[in-house]
Amino acid sequence: MTIRLYNTKTRTKEAFTPLDAENVRMYVCGPTVYDRAHLGNARPVLVFDVLFRLLRHVYGADHVTYVRNFTDVDDKINARAAETGRSIGEITAETTQWYLDDMAALGALEPTHMPRATGYIPQMVAMIADLIDKGHAYVAEGHVLFAVESYKDYGRLSGRTIDDMIAGARVEVAPYKRNPMDFVLWKPSGDDLPGWDSPWGRGRPGWHIECSAMAYELLGETFDIHGGGIDLQFPHHENEIAQSACAHPEGGFAKVWMHNEMLQVEGRKMSKSLGNFFTVRDLLEQGVPGEVIRFVMLSKHYRKPMDWTAEKAREAEASLRKWAALTAGVAGGKPSEDALAHLTNDLNTPGVIAVLHEAASLGDAPGLRAGLDLLGFGDLSEMEIIKGMVAPKDEARVATLVAERAASREARDWNRADEIRDLLVASGVELRDGQDPAWVLKPGFDPAKLETLK
Ligand code: AMP
Ligand code: ZN
Repeated sequence: MTIRLYNTKTRTKEAFTPLDAENVRMYVCGPTVYDRAHLGNARPVLVFDVLFRLLRHVYGADHVTYVRNFTDVDDKINARAAETGRSIGEITAETTQWYLDDMAALGALEPTHMPRATGYIPQMVAMIADLIDKGHAYVAEGHVLFAVESYKDYGRLSGRTIDDMIAGARVEVAPYKRNPMDFVLWKPSGDDLPGWDSPWGRGRPGWHIECSAMAYELLGETFDIHGGGIDLQFPHHENEIAQSACAHPEGGFAKVWMHNEMLQVEGRKMSKSLGNFFTVRDLLEQGVPGEVIRFVMLSKHYRKPMDWTAEKAREAEASLRKWAALTAGVAGGKPSEDALAHLTNDLNTPGVIAVLHEAASLGDAPGLRAGLDLLGFGDLSEMEIIKGMVAPKDEARVATLVAERAASREARDWNRADEIRDLLVASGVELRDGQDPAWVLKPGFDPAKLETLK
């Protein structure tokens, strides 16, 4: 079976051949841990989770190594600590656990290794020292900078020249930089900031070096796939390549570069800095099941921008409810050739979902179950929404209507009281006048029916 993947580096879809089929290696840039993950952050997690599952399917579960890091040293974390008066360690530990819980709720497998940047400072220091020795980095005013002009292929991944980049980017101008595009490998830390001893004084790493150092340590100087969001292509990935290719010129660093497009809100990237975000936890707490989030994300090809809409979530939920009923108690088998053909074609997850709709319409429950497994959906009958858990907002609506009915009876408005009672009963609410609780939701409760009341 041949997997074809679009490689950002060559701008073509290529047949994937692992360097070592016994150990297929993938690195994906993970989150900076200072706050809850927003929904956009879940997109790379789900895209690369599907790829991880596909690689395990093709090469065997024990023959794939997937590394995703936690950035736990960063100025945003320092700022959060200063704002809240909490310790950095407390913030990063709490946020890391939130991230793991939220991604598990979306059905994402844990990567093989989840290194934290602060666990690899000596490796970063060694790599930086090596870059200085080889003439690719220099010390200036307590900083160590990478000299972009020392690496002839700088800009190859994103297809830009150094001049383009200077013109297009808001680069940090600093008097000590030889070239405005030179980027920080190490910077000095005052006493109030996290810092480690180094040959250049007490300081902390720049962002990019951690991925180069951890990928080298855990995957070696050459590995198969490097992933992340397209927003990281420049400068982050360009800088990772420069660092790694110069420190280990014999290795090729990553062979295939894969980038997911952005989750958007009204045409703009969802991001913390734009303030147009909601978190994965917000959605889960509103009663949107993790499976629904997974389904909506996978219904768009990863190289296309996408929007989250409530309408898509409703449609996804309706499909999943139907499929849950169809696959209850059905064991998964081999996924169909059609489903695999789509998935191995550069992760065409919408294509797989179309195959699943077809299987469902033909009543092919084993085919449907196998396809769901391929996309990482667990036992749908375990979905909370199907087990009868109801969104808090729907429960609140029922409570309001029950109270309105009581008030109408109090006011001797029998017509109104009966109208509300009939509607509640029709939507699946059992009214238990005089008892505690005064109402319960029956299986099959349909909150949409509540909306028909004038
Ligand atoms: P960050 O914590 O911002 O470094 O992001 C962690 C991961 O989420 C990176 O792979 C980003 O490329 C990705 N990411 C951030 N925002 C979005 C978005 N709106 N849509 C898709 N991926 C995103
Ligand atoms: Zn990275």
